[in-house]
Amino acid sequence: MKGFEELKNKRILVTGGAGFIGSHLVEELLKIGAKVRVVDNLSTGKFKNIESHINEIEFILGDLSEYEIAEQSVKDVEYILHQAAVPSVPRSVKDPLRTNRSIVTSTVNLFEAARKEKIKRIVQASSSSVYGNSPTLPKKEDMYLNPLSPYAVAKYTQETYGRVFSSIYGMSIVSLRYFNVFGSRQDPNSEYSAVIPKFVKLMMKDKKPTIYGDGETTRDFTYIKNVVGANLKSLVSRKKVSGEFLNVACGERISLNELVLEINKIMGKNIKPEYGPGRVGDVKHSLADIEKAKDLIDYEVLFNFKAGLKSFFDSETDLK
Ligand code: NAD
Repeated sequence: MKGFEELKNKRILVTGGAGFIGSHLVEELLKIGAKVRVVDNLSTGKFKNIESHINEIEFILGDLSEYEIAEQSVKDVEYILHQAAVPSVPRSVKDPLRTNRSIVTSTVNLFEAARKEKIKRIVQASSSSVYGNSPTLPKKEDMYLNPLSPYAVAKYTQETYGRVFSSIYGMSIVSLRYFNVFGSRQDPNSEYSAVIPKFVKLMMKDKKPTIYGDGETTRDFTYIKNVVGANLKSLVSRKKVSGEFLNVACGERISLNELVLEINKIMGKNIKPEYGPGRVGDVKHSLADIEKAKDLIDYEVLFNFKAGLKSFFDSETDLK
């Protein structure tokens, strides 16, 4: 990606850097010439996601819910891309304490340690789940929030800490509300996997994907390259972004039935999905207004949904 030369040689910490999104950030930062440190406890992430870069980065195997690990991680860094979390709504319904530790405790530890290091900017991953089930579409950042799951509450708390640490300590913390990110290296095999890698993997083997609900649930599926771009642009933006929350999405609404149709089209197949009961804590519709991100960080949709899906097929070696 072009336009990020000022990040060359900068010391940048990626928390959760062995995860899906974190590992893409690491890869792009290395291309730019940044000095990258990763902290990850490998709970949901995988070492193999960063293995090919292990000699180019500094890797701390540790859990940010321990303050000493947070302190060690932020030492001498200038910027932080904070991705660490145990993600997923159903996981949080099963184990809310783990979700809270990995998101809320870890974030407060990180911010407190970063405050003492005088970090230039922290960009952190929040989630569209903070909007909950409010019927108004598209979702705008200043809307009433109604988190429906322990995961969403934790993300809401995380971004609120970002605003509060920005205002009371003068730190620069930006929260990006990601909308259903997809791309290579996303685990397709767990019961908690995101829908796109899971469906693609099944349909490649001519198996029927299961849709929870009637399939008219919609999501603003966002290709990973858009998310990487948004993180880097947030790091370098000269506008007043501290304490802000920004939607990162495509601004397109795709139903699960349409998703199955598109995957079939790319693969030249005609697999019909199966339908199961709807899931607790899931929101029905999701669509982002992305004007604020365009304005404050010059955000661009580099890949719309269809282009992203096509690129995902081309790049995802794990599925082949
Ligand atoms: P992921 O599970 O692949 O990555 C998260 C990483 O954080 C993993 O490598 C995990 O091992 C690490 N981690 C978890 N708890 C930790 C702790 N206490 N200390 C250190 N490391 C820890 O998930 P992802 O999809 O890459 O998500 C990255 C971030 O984006 C998360 O904060 C998630 O909540 C957020 N997000 C993701 C999506 C999405 O669609 N993937 C949507 C909205 C928000």
